[in-house]
Amino acid sequence: MNLYPSAPSTTQGAKLSKPDIEKVAIIGAGLGGLAVAVALQKLGYDVQVYEKAQDFRPVGGGLALLPNGLNFLDAIEPGIGETIKNSGCEVSTTVLRNNQGETIRTRPASRFQDKYNQPLITVWWWRLQQILASQLPPENIHLNYRCLGFEQNEDCVSIYFDSQEPITADLLIGADGINSVIREVLIGDGKPRYLGSMSWRTVIKCQQELLKAGELGFVKGDQEFMYLLNVGDGYISWLYRRLSPNSTLSQNAAEVKSRVLEHIADWGKPLRDLVEATAAEQILEGPVCDRVPLKSWSQGRVTLLGDAAHPMAPALGQGANSTFEDAYELAWCFSQASNIQEALSNYETRRIPRTTIIQNRSALGEMRYYSQDQEADSQKMEEQSQMSSEEYTDWAFNYQP
Ligand SMILES: Cc1cc2nc3c(=O)[nH]c(=O)nc-3n(C[C@H](O)[C@H](O)[C@H](O)COP(=O)(O)OP(=O)(O)OC[C@H]3O[C@@H](n4cnc5c(N)ncnc54)[C@H](O)[C@@H]3O)c2cc1C
Repeated sequence: MNLYPSAPSTTQGAKLSKPDIEKVAIIGAGLGGLAVAVALQKLGYDVQVYEKAQDFRPVGGGLALLPNGLNFLDAIEPGIGETIKNSGCEVSTTVLRNNQGETIRTRPASRFQDKYNQPLITVWWWRLQQILASQLPPENIHLNYRCLGFEQNEDCVSIYFDSQEPITADLLIGADGINSVIREVLIGDGKPRYLGSMSWRTVIKCQQELLKAGELGFVKGDQEFMYLLNVGDGYISWLYRRLSPNSTLSQNAAEVKSRVLEHIADWGKPLRDLVEATAAEQILEGPVCDRVPLKSWSQGRVTLLGDAAHPMAPALGQGANSTFEDAYELAWCFSQASNIQEALSNYETRRIPRTTIIQNRSALGEMRYYSQDQEADSQKMEEQSQMSSEEYTDWAFNYQP
């Protein structure tokens, strides 16, 4: 389906969409908020994005863009997949290593292109954020706007910020992540669910021999693992995860780094060197969490998107990829409906069944990482979700705009 059959490529163009709204406020300039802003801007709306961060800093780790995510990014902004590919890395080989850094197995990644007509791309989260932000007029992105809540009536939504004047809009999209304030006001379902493991991730540029160009590495430890991703321009990302009964955060950056080094004290030198070479302040520590799927994401003039709507365990790598689907489909629903209620109802009908399946399967998949008997666990996952791994992958990756 084509979101913009004859849509102009600038914000000045005539509005093609039917619901009677002018101004759209989006809370959060993460990947989801920016992607939906680009899609709605193309329909001619006045789209304003409000972000709590004071600036766009080079943070985050590497992430994998999968065929469905790339399909939808390209539908939002034709050609953007190529820009992202040039900024990141097209994976040609996946490499499994033991915790000494020795290769156990390598596999070609050509099946992505062969079977799903898209490559597997690894990219720095921050670069992707920059690429999406560059599609919007800078004056439409408002930094240092921490949203505190909203109120709505039949005519508009009033949105409140810390130390900033309130604003009004015709439509409010909460794209403010797993700890969403908009979701808290809308649904009020409390804190995310801790899934029993902690994560540490970063991007660095350094001399290393663990990852050649085009490779994606996975290091299997005991109740712990590390991903190694090429994210372009000589930068690599490491992501270390470990089972942990509690989710207490470190007191400061130095403690974050020493925690990782302590955990991997018996790992091989090349892996320890990688962590040693990382500036402590650059390592992002956090608990791995999700939430139970919701039956509804919207009320009146307010809806949710991305992690605010369906935060999921990272096991299947669909967090950002399914969020790009949301962004395109929300805009598409607005291009087809005659009023806000119809658009949001169609958005939920299109999105909730699919993201519920992905959320549930991701939660089941999470424990497989740490298991000693992955085959038995895979079988359990297939029985519970009634889809084999291959059926699931085809279903997830073949999804088209
Ligand atoms: C800094 C950062 C780094 C990340 N790095 C990675 C990574 O390396 N690999 C990976 O797989 N995933 C990463 N993620 C998560 C990943 O982006 C999401 O899982 C997925 O893309 C869904 O995106 P989202 O836009 O829904 O949520 P998010 O990416 O979480 O974005 C939410 C945005 O809303 C902003 N926000 C939150 N609360 C408020 C508020 N009250 N008022 C205004 N703004 C608010 C946040 O600052 C953030 O910019 C990262 C997220 C963030 C925020």
